Amino acid sequence: MSLKKSVRDVEVSGQKILVRVDFNVPFSPGTLEIANTKRITASIPTLQYLLDNDAAIIICSHLGRPKGREVSGLSLRPIWDKLNQMLGLESEFCPSLDFPEISAAAQRVNSGEVLLLENLRFHAGEESNDPRFAQNLASLADIYVNDAFGAAHRNHASVQGITNYIPSVAGLLLEKEILSLQSVLTTPKRPFTAVLGGAKVSDKINVVRNLMTVADNILIGGGMAATFLVAESVFVGDSQVEESFIDSAKQLMKESRALDCEIVLPTDAVVSKCFGPDSSNRICDVSDIHDGEILLDVGPSTSILFKDVLSATASALWNGPMGVYEWPQYSKGTKTVAESLSRENITSVIGGGSTVDAVSSLGLEARMNHVSTGGGASLEFLEGRDLPGIASLIDI
Ligand code: ADP
Ligand code: MG
Repeated sequence: MSLKKSVRDVEVSGQKILVRVDFNVPFSPGTLEIANTKRITASIPTLQYLLDNDAAIIICSHLGRPKGREVSGLSLRPIWDKLNQMLGLESEFCPSLDFPEISAAAQRVNSGEVLLLENLRFHAGEESNDPRFAQNLASLADIYVNDAFGAAHRNHASVQGITNYIPSVAGLLLEKEILSLQSVLTTPKRPFTAVLGGAKVSDKINVVRNLMTVADNILIGGGMAATFLVAESVFVGDSQVEESFIDSAKQLMKESRALDCEIVLPTDAVVSKCFGPDSSNRICDVSDIHDGEILLDVGPSTSILFKDVLSATASALWNGPMGVYEWPQYSKGTKTVAESLSRENITSVIGGGSTVDAVSSLGLEARMNHVSTGGGASLEFLEGRDLPGIASLIDI
């Protein structure tokens, strides 16, 4: 992917700038209490940069899946308060979905002022990438800034369509995501190790396929390891195996050898007959998993093995927990990887909602070099695919 112009490469002073952010924050169940404000915080550097440079800012985002209709629980209004606090100013909020009204509100914004639009997905044209809706959005501003990495893999009007109509550049968050992920994919410090886990092999198989061409090692844990073990003729009891991916896993194991990338699978596991937080369990070699048992975490020997590989690694990329980390008795493998990636002399890039959650609850987030804000978007990036929200920005 070629490098993209950022907000720093264009004249923003006195200009109207439409900034697409990712304010798709989680709320505490049944309330309008924002449970985690990270995504709002992540947008502040770009917004502050634009304010410091006398731009007039119009912010837009999606929230949840209202499917083209107005849904009161999915208004951006609660986020507006938080945003004002963080920016230390009084921005305007435009609750209207009527374009002439939105346009009038946008026209009133002066340099150094901020207008927040209502949830983009209240408009049917957003997800269908309707050219008329994209053109309407474009008409609000002189320049479009995409700072929503979490939505960059979507072919939506505010992500892709709009770029057909006005000059479009990356925000500082998007730029940082591109540079961090791109550099591990193209010029990683070596040895470079990728650690992949999580529940489903189907989510990650194309990431394995792409990373194999660049990584020196790929450590595989989590539920997805079961399918890889079966591909290596290991009996995994009742562990969840995605039958239709066994052949691909076999193929990848073979190709990785030719590419000089070592795929390392668990040698032992924590297994239980029951999928639950307090289930009784035992540790065994992967060759000794019994009928009815489920693999719920990598075992202690695997943790030592993974730790050893990581201690000899200069850069690492991690996506997907090593076990059902939400339950303490199956969280040890994940903790080992998180700690190994926290070393001073390792460049560590992590992504994925659960992975970031696990690292953050261990208090180790600040020890990572880059924590990606995009789940699906970071996976597609790591698969080596062009993301519509990035590909459509102006090349440097
Ligand atoms: P991320 O969000 O970091 O990309 P995923 O969404 O792919 O990660 O996977 C996270 C989920 O995988 C977690 O909820 C975790 O409990 C689950 N998981 C990890 N290991 C296993 C396993 N062995 N069996 C079942 N689920 C697992
Ligand atoms: Mg996830």
